[in-house]
Amino acid sequence: MIIIYNNIIPFKGFRCINLFGVLFVRKGMGVYKHTMVHESIHTAQMKEMLYVFFYLWYAVEWLVNLCRYGKSHVAYFYVSFECEAYRHQYDDDYLSQRRRYAWIHYLTPKP
Ligand SMILES: [Zn+2]
Repeated sequence: MIIIYNNIIPFKGFRCINLFGVLFVRKGMGVYKHTMVHESIHTAQMKEMLYVFFYLWYAVEWLVNLCRYGKSHVAYFYVSFECEAYRHQYDDDYLSQRRRYAWIHYLTPKP
């Protein structure tokens, strides 16, 4: 994964963001191993969703979650892409055994 350290992307207050498989990291911030696994899972999701549909689906699901739960950070954690990435970010071998579209299994209603 390409990592670009800079002072612009992401906004201040955030550590990193994965845009189209490129990881942008705030200068002076480290990248933990589990963060790399997490972002690599997102890159796999993006590829299978042809990138554009990943962002469209992500936005729609976040909005639905926001209406459902009322808080932006809860909406974020309940996006199915995030559920899969957080669930497996400490499993270094996950991507080698991951099935395509595995995030679909996290679409089920949350508590
Ligand atoms: Zn994530």
